[in-house]
Amino acid sequence: MTRVRLKSPYLDSATGSVRWLRGNLHAHTTISDGSRPPEQVIAAYEQLGYDFLALTDHDALAPVREYQTGTRLTLLPGVEVSARGPHILQLGLEAVQEPAVDRQRVLDFITAQGGLAVLNHPNWQWHFNHFPQELMQALNGAAGIEIYNAVIDRLEGAALATDRWDRLLSQDKWVWGFANDDSHYPTDDGRAWNVAQWDASAPPTVAGILETLRAGRFYASTGVSIEMIRVDGPTLHVVAPDAQCIRFVTRWGVVAQTVEAAQASWTAPDTPDVVESLKYVRVECFGMGSRMAWSQPIAIEYQS
Ligand SMILES: [Zn+2]
Ligand SMILES: [Zn+2]
Repeated sequence: MTRVRLKSPYLDSATGSVRWLRGNLHAHTTISDGSRPPEQVIAAYEQLGYDFLALTDHDALAPVREYQTGTRLTLLPGVEVSARGPHILQLGLEAVQEPAVDRQRVLDFITAQGGLAVLNHPNWQWHFNHFPQELMQALNGAAGIEIYNAVIDRLEGAALATDRWDRLLSQDKWVWGFANDDSHYPTDDGRAWNVAQWDASAPPTVAGILETLRAGRFYASTGVSIEMIRVDGPTLHVVAPDAQCIRFVTRWGVVAQTVEAAQASWTAPDTPDVVESLKYVRVECFGMGSRMAWSQPIAIEYQS
């Protein structure tokens, strides 16, 4: 009997009534440096067919409660903590903090009040180092990092930050990967999003969506859908109908398997050193053009 097990954050989407909710967690309005007032940003994402949206102005809170009655989107309160250091998304809190130079204090404020924190666009700027790796590694309390921030496609640096993510995961910093528009202008909308697994029998709520994100029951996307992701003992099964290629990535970014198809399975080797050598497996799905989807990491465990 194999003693290797995969520990997935996902619900078993092959069974039950799972619904996928699409959301952007990073958008600016005229409250800071966005080009549109909150109502217009909300209307734009509603038009795109999203299910949830966070308005995250720089060091300022949009009064999303006021807008909730006018939209079918679930609106999450948010702030992008920006001044005096690397940017951090604060989600789910109706409070604004004076940004501390010590980013651990920023995270402590967010977590103490039950909010969700995400470290933003690590590879932004000409030095590709907006969020220094050593700082991300040292900070505690963040639920995740932006592995894709679409606005960086038109700025200096790299939108993609899966390199930073693999380094954190490989050194026991277990954080989820988020993809966001960081929308400032209409042309920024609908480029990168998160898709959360939701129990279809209940209507979406702010608290429920936050808990789903905190638990890692979502994937990140720039255009590919993951329809099913399921573990069976040591094996991971993935179905992504519009993928042309699926890769299984393990510790330090090692690609354990590549399958040129819309569905694939990978089985962890049944060896005692599997936890130390591979640690986790995550899925990357490649679709048409530059479209991708990224699963959350799935921990590899060994029962000795
Ligand atoms: Zn930012
Ligand atoms: Zn931003």
